[in-house]
Amino acid sequence: MKRRILTFHGIGEPERVLDHGEADYWISLDRFCDILDRVSHHVDRDKFLITFDDGNLSDLRLAAPELCRRDLGAEFFVLTGRFDKTGSLDRNDVRCLLKMGMRIGSHGIDHRDWSSLPDFELTRELGQSKRLLEEICGHRLHSASIPFGRYNRATLAKLRACGYETAYSSDGGDTTLGRFLQARTSIRRNMTDAMIEQILDGYLPAGRRLRRAVRMIKMMSKGVV
Ligand SMILES: [Zn+2]
Repeated sequence: MKRRILTFHGIGEPERVLDHGEADYWISLDRFCDILDRVSHHVDRDKFLITFDDGNLSDLRLAAPELCRRDLGAEFFVLTGRFDKTGSLDRNDVRCLLKMGMRIGSHGIDHRDWSSLPDFELTRELGQSKRLLEEICGHRLHSASIPFGRYNRATLAKLRACGYETAYSSDGGDTTLGRFLQARTSIRRNMTDAMIEQILDGYLPAGRRLRRAVRMIKMMSKGVV
């Protein structure tokens, strides 16, 4: 079965200082609601999976109520290193999301580029965040989303070694349910209505489709996807 996965980051006004380039991934509440309405009424509605990265407070305060209003679920990938920091989700917020019927996954501890970390640091990012989130959620955690969408063979091998069954990238386009590596498309602030419509229809520009295919062939030849 094909899936079409969207990634959101922040909704509304950030309540923390953003990293360089991060503002491009924050959208207004109106825009967010507009996209959810389009998903709700889309002919392929059942194909969609909605995800959130970075554990911003807007996940709980703004996004989750709008999702519930439309009977849509989502998976939230949180950063355990940002618990108790202004503008980010904390442990109780994660439990609230669970109570609202949402799912939780790991985005690591400190939002680092997993493809460039030494082995012991990558083990810590993936293992420690998973254990803490399992403790908070009270059940096993199976999925992680990859910061900045940057990964390599070692990243995927370590994810598997740490017990993850699904890794979410940012490669764009449709993906197949059940595969270890799941491509997603990030929604950005500067996207026009036409671009959003293309994404919701599963369209991937030719250049990007080619890059994604080459990358996938490389990973498959190394036996990691
Ligand atoms: Zn992120």
